[in-house]
Amino acid sequence: MAKSANEIKRGIVKKHAVGHDENLLSDMLPVYYTRYFPQNIFCRWLACGNSPQPLSNRELSFTLADDVYIRPSISRHDAVVLARELVFDIDLTDYDEVRTCCQEAKVCDKCWKFMVIACDIIHKSLKDDFGFQNILWVFSGRRGIHCWVSDYEARTLDSPGRAAIADYLCLIIGGDNQNKKVHLGSDNLHSSIRRAVSIIDNISMMCYTRSRISGNIT
Ligand SMILES: [Zn+2]
Repeated sequence: MAKSANEIKRGIVKKHAVGHDENLLSDMLPVYYTRYFPQNIFCRWLACGNSPQPLSNRELSFTLADDVYIRPSISRHDAVVLARELVFDIDLTDYDEVRTCCQEAKVCDKCWKFMVIACDIIHKSLKDDFGFQNILWVFSGRRGIHCWVSDYEARTLDSPGRAAIADYLCLIIGGDNQNKKVHLGSDNLHSSIRRAVSIIDNISMMCYTRSRISGNIT
């Protein structure tokens, strides 16, 4: 029997809710970029907001289909880096040792909670411990999130300064067995670690309560 227009519509909506269909991108992306993409806000961010830098100084790169990467300034020998955002890249594959629902490129609502926790911990630390204000979180388009910090002090940090912030945010180092059990040591924990544990506890409790309410846990 032929499906009614409403049934087809419902089918399309359901398909979007379950996962994304790359075949739709060629139709949907032009609509998104002409109607919905916040280009004014985006350009303001690229020009560094209240103390604008010329947009023409920006290096823009593009990733095309099949991971073709275009970076025009590579061919310019006179290009010098004046400033760049402080960027953190969180990828769900970093959690493959501890997530049990998915592995590698696969992502679901359950393991996405790891990203929610990571964002919350890093965001609070960047604000409260380092005093950064201009923080933008961007979905990477696949299985991760990027954090861009655009404060003047962040954009002009040298490489050792960037590495020091990354070290400060790093509690454990990866390893086959190391990540499955974390010993936080004594009660004399650094305040940033105590804050992180409290964020994890709060979000975990929220997830547990929601699961109880929806009947996924008995
Ligand atoms: Zn999952």
